[in-house]
Amino acid sequence: MPRIQHLYLHIPFCRRRCAYCDFNTYANLDDRIEAYVEALCIELKLLAAETAAAPIQHVSQASAALHPTIFFGGGTPSMLTLEQLEQILRAVDALIPIDAAEITVEANPGTVLGDNTDAQAYLRGLRALGVNRLSLGVQSLHDPTLRVLGRSHTAAEAYRCFEDARRVGFTDINLDFIFGLPGQTLDQWCATLDVVLTWGADHFSLYSLILEERAPLYAQVMNGLVSLPDDDDVAAMYEAAIMQFAAADYEHYEISNWARAEKASFSNGNGRRTQPLPFCHHNLAYWLNSDYLAAGAGAHGHTYPQRYYNILDVDGYIAAVRAGGRPVASVITLAPEDLWAETMFMGLRINAGVSRDHFAQRCGVTLEEAFGPTLAMLIEQGLLESDKVGVRLTPRGRMLGNRVFEHFV
Ligand code: SF4
Repeated sequence: MPRIQHLYLHIPFCRRRCAYCDFNTYANLDDRIEAYVEALCIELKLLAAETAAAPIQHVSQASAALHPTIFFGGGTPSMLTLEQLEQILRAVDALIPIDAAEITVEANPGTVLGDNTDAQAYLRGLRALGVNRLSLGVQSLHDPTLRVLGRSHTAAEAYRCFEDARRVGFTDINLDFIFGLPGQTLDQWCATLDVVLTWGADHFSLYSLILEERAPLYAQVMNGLVSLPDDDDVAAMYEAAIMQFAAADYEHYEISNWARAEKASFSNGNGRRTQPLPFCHHNLAYWLNSDYLAAGAGAHGHTYPQRYYNILDVDGYIAAVRAGGRPVASVITLAPEDLWAETMFMGLRINAGVSRDHFAQRCGVTLEEAFGPTLAMLIEQGLLESDKVGVRLTPRGRMLGNRVFEHFV
């Protein structure tokens, strides 16, 4: 029986809070980082002891084909020192074989450049630890907008950080951008795409701004201090991104993610790809609704039929681990119907869609047995298409994704 191959590690610290952010992350808690890292290592040991005896079931071939993955997310994992990251990776090794893993670290250009007198030395140190994928939060190339967002870097600094990462040998670099930003016009966004496409990164994640009620930006918008583009403009920005990335030969493989297609130009003679794109295997594990573990404050793991949620706040998390137990705040037991629904609405995010084999292997029922009438209705509405391989969103369905997903929730 296989063991769980995917691990998310939450690092809930930031230098300061960005105006749009409602993630579980805290500014001005730098004095807790050392204790947090120690607690995280203890939690990892507890997880290793529990999961060693609990092999997973219902693994599809598509999930089994993924690399093992370790993902440092946040927050700002690049606030950790190399020594702290090494300490964590040593503890991880008992859970996931780090030598064979895709290891991603989310990094903020502001901390990589601002915290280190030699940013390249820090990035080189990450590579030496085995980190082989960097995800840089760039968000915008418009400095006044970056200031409104509360980001701690300029566009030029983001580019410098990207170049430094490439210089020290990172090849798998993701760049995060947001569209639908305060004051942003379609022309500005297209100009941003023109520029970033010259950078030649292997992978991009583009998200439309979600105005979260708990984020400071919400009040600024409500009070008329800043204005956001309307829904039509945001849809036009998304369509512009689809066209510009296609023209630049990137593969749009998930609703919000693009990977460089040229790495896939290798053919086995019948036109089928035999080389993997620089997809993010960790996120693919989520979209395939694979089982994964998670550690850290507020992290949640999914080991069907259970989903667990860790204690949110940093001090409560550290205290719970010091008290000797797993820092779990709640556990939800999932029904088979929950597994079917999640496998569907997560899988439809992938542009190749949900394959019949994957669904049956993961869920134990066929797509039609689980969702026959719903699929027929969405196909009739032109939102889904179906063939013998599986079901997927049509281009129209991709624009109206939420309307499709709500039928499976
Ligand atoms: S750096 Fe990222 S996690 Fe931290 S406040 Fe900004 S958006 Fe949120």
